Amino acid sequence: MALIVQKYGGTSVANAERIQSVAGRIARQAEAGDRLVVVVSAMGDTTDELLALANQMTDEPEERELDLLLSTGEIVSSTLLAMALKHIGHPAIALSGAQAGIGTDKRYGRARILKVDPHRVEAALKRGNVVIVAGFQGTTEELDVTTLGRGGSDTTAVALTAALKAERCEIYTDVDGIYTADPRIEPRASKLESVSYEEMLELASYGAKVMHPRAVELGALFQVPILVASSFVETPGTLIGGASMMEQRNKVTGIAGDTDVARITIRGVPDQPGIAARLFQPLAEGGISVDTIVQNASVERLTDLTFTVTRSDLGRAMEIVKPVAAEIGAPEVLADTHLAKVSVVGSGMQSGPGYAGRMFQTLYEAGINIELITTSEIRITCLIEEAQVPKAVRALHKAFELEEG
Ligand code: ADP
Ligand code: ASP
Ligand code: MG
Repeated sequence: MALIVQKYGGTSVANAERIQSVAGRIARQAEAGDRLVVVVSAMGDTTDELLALANQMTDEPEERELDLLLSTGEIVSSTLLAMALKHIGHPAIALSGAQAGIGTDKRYGRARILKVDPHRVEAALKRGNVVIVAGFQGTTEELDVTTLGRGGSDTTAVALTAALKAERCEIYTDVDGIYTADPRIEPRASKLESVSYEEMLELASYGAKVMHPRAVELGALFQVPILVASSFVETPGTLIGGASMMEQRNKVTGIAGDTDVARITIRGVPDQPGIAARLFQPLAEGGISVDTIVQNASVERLTDLTFTVTRSDLGRAMEIVKPVAAEIGAPEVLADTHLAKVSVVGSGMQSGPGYAGRMFQTLYEAGINIELITTSEIRITCLIEEAQVPKAVRALHKAFELEEG
């Protein structure tokens, strides 16, 4: 009797019919002998709708109330799924994140899971229940409800898999696996049988929103096998953590595009030791993750410093950066939101030359201007015009021969 954690995303539980269909799948698997913990996202676009409602009340909703509000989306779907299961004769219980023992820090809107106390989930399993857990949420030590960041139900599922020492984590969504590019952008993308944690982490962090990056990070840390598959059709999915680096040699695994990019440029930064620390330390303390930092060569001991953040962090980042820039005598801070990232990812790139050249040549031939370049061992990222992302993804997908067949 295997213990399995499953997660169903928003589209998979979008309406009453879909919830009943998911309940049917769960009941069949439970009757076949598996013990199941099921994490659910909010129904369809509920989270967006709740956010829009909050924004009708005020431009800047208080973080604590906002998280409590957003957490209700997953409460609705989890309770309905438990009712649907009981209705077809299967014992089930719905638990909120707090009741399931998900303990987080106090960073509202992007809380990190600090600990999982699975005793209540275990007790409910022992009594023969399918345990339905509201994803995307946890609770602080003071019992305030937090949310884990958009797409965070994946992270709830992987964290529970690790805490319960379950056999694997199954992520059910509206695609039947991880593809070489977002199939909505490149219909000729091919499905990967497996992908390593490292590659999936780069793909997810650079825009492949099929998995929440922190879920992949946790999966790697606790060596949780993660299967990504469809909740609509019964086809084999993609196993994250199943790929050996050896097989991936000299190969690009996938292309990712990310339009959630804002660029901040600080003009005329004095070229002195300690300035970068003075700028980036407060950003880190504010929980803002900074990416793609470039410092231009100094002219007459003044440099320009450019970096990117997510668009939702732009306002807070500017609030932090502006006073520091003024203190150090940098005359100008500029922000823009017309850029996006396109990335080529593959562990084969660390052993083979020529990948960067091919990427730049491909973008050049497609008439796409590169504004900034950053790399990791297994990724090359270019900042380009947002509107060019679909074209760039398709051109790179073709250039690196990722098409099906
Ligand atoms: P869920 O609501 O189930 O969590 P998401 O919308 O978060 O689903 O993620 C699934 C979506 O991720 C797909 O519909 C697809 O458009 C997108 N996606 C982006 N990159 C990829 C990729 N490389 N492979 C598969 N899907 C991808
Ligand atoms: N409902 C949340 C969101 O839309 C969390 C999730 O779906 O994973 O971001
Ligand atoms: Mg998701």
